[in-house]
Amino acid sequence: MLPHERPPLAPADLNRINPAIWPRTSSRTDGTLTIGGVDVRDVARDHGTPLYVYDEDDVRSRMRDFATAFQGSDVHYAGKAFLCKEIVRWLMDEGLGLDVASGGELAVALSVGFPPERITLHGNNKSAAELTRALEAGVGHIVIDSFEEIARLGHLAEQHGKRPRVMIRVTTGVEAHTHEFIATAHDDQKFGLSLNAGAAAEAVRRILALPQLELVGLHSHIGSQIVDTAGFEVAARRLAALLVSIKDEHGVVLPELDLGGGYGIAYVEGDETPDIKELADGLREIVAKVCTDAGLPVPRLTIEPGRSIVGTGGITLYEVGTVKDVEGLRTYVSIDGGMSDNIRTALYGAEYTVVLASRESTAEPMLSRVVGKHCESGDIIVRDCYLPADLAPGDLIAVAATGAYCRSLASNYNYLPRPAVVAVAGGASRVIVQGETEDDLMRGQL
Ligand SMILES: *Cc1c(COP(=O)(O)O)cnc(C)c1O
Repeated sequence: MLPHERPPLAPADLNRINPAIWPRTSSRTDGTLTIGGVDVRDVARDHGTPLYVYDEDDVRSRMRDFATAFQGSDVHYAGKAFLCKEIVRWLMDEGLGLDVASGGELAVALSVGFPPERITLHGNNKSAAELTRALEAGVGHIVIDSFEEIARLGHLAEQHGKRPRVMIRVTTGVEAHTHEFIATAHDDQKFGLSLNAGAAAEAVRRILALPQLELVGLHSHIGSQIVDTAGFEVAARRLAALLVSIKDEHGVVLPELDLGGGYGIAYVEGDETPDIKELADGLREIVAKVCTDAGLPVPRLTIEPGRSIVGTGGITLYEVGTVKDVEGLRTYVSIDGGMSDNIRTALYGAEYTVVLASRESTAEPMLSRVVGKHCESGDIIVRDCYLPADLAPGDLIAVAATGAYCRSLASNYNYLPRPAVVAVAGGASRVIVQGETEDDLMRGQL
């Protein structure tokens, strides 16, 4: 057996609910997983499985943690991690801003009265319709991602008699994931305008030449699952250098700097996560230092956390349907959902923690793979895990940290309806997004 094929070590306690990985209000009560004071068996009985369950206190408290730690800066939740009307209401209550990346996301935000001036529109290919909608709504910022967009937006702004505040998405050549960051000369990806190749500086010239666009700052987003500030420091230094050259060339001092999101969360035992307070202090210090060193006033900072706000507060509940022991290898546990409700494992090898949730067990650990019900052998939710050997059809299992990029990436593959989303708090559960029905699946078909 090759080292990478060796199964992971069995956890000492299969029943453990590690507070770093599970929602803040979760625990085992009389053996059963409870979240928000609600027994998962009750929530499954009331709403069915698969089911996305969000711990409202967890999500709201993380929104507050960011707002508090980053006081004096702007915290914009990256809506693509998970967006629905109720999440937008929580954002309004907690005083955060919102990033949207399409006309659809913008429509969700506006539908419940989110203040448009706290919305930023992103995207590498925004349509004229999306830009028009953003102009009409009066969004706070539009992040420019191409030369075509400068001309397109300039034209639309003139037509509509608006003067939008814009930022330029700058590709700094820094890419960060977890502990690693690479700062390269090439920026081989679709987002942004390159710093090294001079495209960012050219974008500045073109925008400043258009009186109908107000250039207020630079934007950079360097990656995901980042646990320290090293990559942000390199990116900030490069952006500060560009701010200096803008000042030298045009006599313009841009007042805002957006360093994006990408802060990591814990998916499995041992995953490190940044402390939000330390992160805030670190980022502010970096921005203050690089700008002061460059002889610039300190710009207003914006950050854009997505995963780190909704990721840990959400879990997915499934019912076990079949338990198939493949002699000498492992046990395949099939659940009633799969890659249609969580594509992350199939898409990029994501790792997850899973537990038997409807009861406790003292049975031996059983090397398992949790798989979905789709016609695809890559339909895996948890590649390597241990579940108790007495696991049986009808048991409920819970997968932790599915709050970000699961519902938002869900599909109807094999005509599976997308599961409901419920929020739990104070001993009660309520639906915040209805599960789809067969009628929903066939709507629009002639
Ligand atoms: C995806 C994205 C984010 C959020 O990333 P997370 O890893 O979820 O924090 C922030 N800003 C931009 C521009 C993004 O595309």
